[in-house]
Amino acid sequence: MLSALTAPVQRLLWLPIVFLAGCAVNPVTGKNELMLLDESQEISMGAKQFEPTQQSQGGRYMSDPDLTRYVSEIGQRLARVADRSLPYEFVIIDDSTPNAWALPGGKIAVNRGLLTKLNSEAELAAVLSHEIVHAAARHSAKSIERGMLLSSVIGVASSAIDQNAGNYGRIFDNGAQLGAQFIVSSYGREAELESDAYGMIYMMRAGFDPEAAVSLQETFVQLSKGQSNNWLDGMLASHPPSQERVEKNRDTAQRLKQAARQDLTLGFDRYQSKLNRLSQQSQAYNQTQTALIALKEGDLSKAQSEIQTALEQSQSEAQIHSAAGQIAMARQEFRQAQTHFSAAIKINPNHFRYFLGRGLAAKALNQTDAARADLQQSQALFSSQAAAQALAELGG
Ligand SMILES: [Zn+2]
Repeated sequence: MLSALTAPVQRLLWLPIVFLAGCAVNPVTGKNELMLLDESQEISMGAKQFEPTQQSQGGRYMSDPDLTRYVSEIGQRLARVADRSLPYEFVIIDDSTPNAWALPGGKIAVNRGLLTKLNSEAELAAVLSHEIVHAAARHSAKSIERGMLLSSVIGVASSAIDQNAGNYGRIFDNGAQLGAQFIVSSYGREAELESDAYGMIYMMRAGFDPEAAVSLQETFVQLSKGQSNNWLDGMLASHPPSQERVEKNRDTAQRLKQAARQDLTLGFDRYQSKLNRLSQQSQAYNQTQTALIALKEGDLSKAQSEIQTALEQSQSEAQIHSAAGQIAMARQEFRQAQTHFSAAIKINPNHFRYFLGRGLAAKALNQTDAARADLQQSQALFSSQAAAQALAELGG
């Protein structure tokens, strides 16, 4: 098994890893298991991939620093009672897909689009503690050790090359997935049950009502019935919900609560008040979604009118300005596109897609210097095929 793993792993040239095979005790479950990565390798791997993985997923959500602080505080409160001390970090990703993920070493992200599906602080704690266990119990690390991710790395890389730079409507479709290879696409049933069970123990230790892990799972099961691919691409694909998980969580919650010696909180009101600002943007985000679907279907006038309405309702969201930029590009309104991408950059000056979009708009307007500067900035933030190709066409 080792020799089968070593050859493909060596292809991951950006990770100069020395493999030291050995047996060790899992820090969460106490089970003996094979470990190929030692802790420092695990931590440095996750730390190195954290920024590019965020870039590939939409970048950080910058419009609500209070909400970011809140998510981080809840995460750290759970991290303090976890069975394994790691350099945990918690961020919000600016993406409407309901999803959350953990990299090896405790780097954890939750999407803006998942936060709006939760009802209470304890449900947020259920999401975060579940991800903490994926990192702490080495589920993420084990997937890499198994070489499970390699086929997806190679698959994504080749599909990213298949792009059409001349079609401005789809400027962001390519390249962006390249940073996502460390997000595990599926952990498997056993790891999910383990994350639920230990996650609920951490919730209890931190004073959250573990019952919220039951209601969270029920929400997921409900949403998975007749839901769109959007959901299946996100949370439900990497952490498949099931009636089995609902039942197991219910048993665990009951058992844990019988032994509880402290008041346990659900934090319904506090969560609603923290989510207030983001909830007010939901109509604008829904219209943006409709606009982007219309763009994909080639209905540019519908895309244009929907995004106009969205922007009339909300000017504070980088992704909405960026969507307006994409639609302007498809309509070949390059000056408008520059304005929209500049607005997105003003809100989040650290996301490669906004510089890529503005750079491509400048290129179309023959503003060579401006185009080159933006495309180089985009490449510095996150390397993409689209920016590389545009820069090559500019001649450097
Ligand atoms: Zn999971």
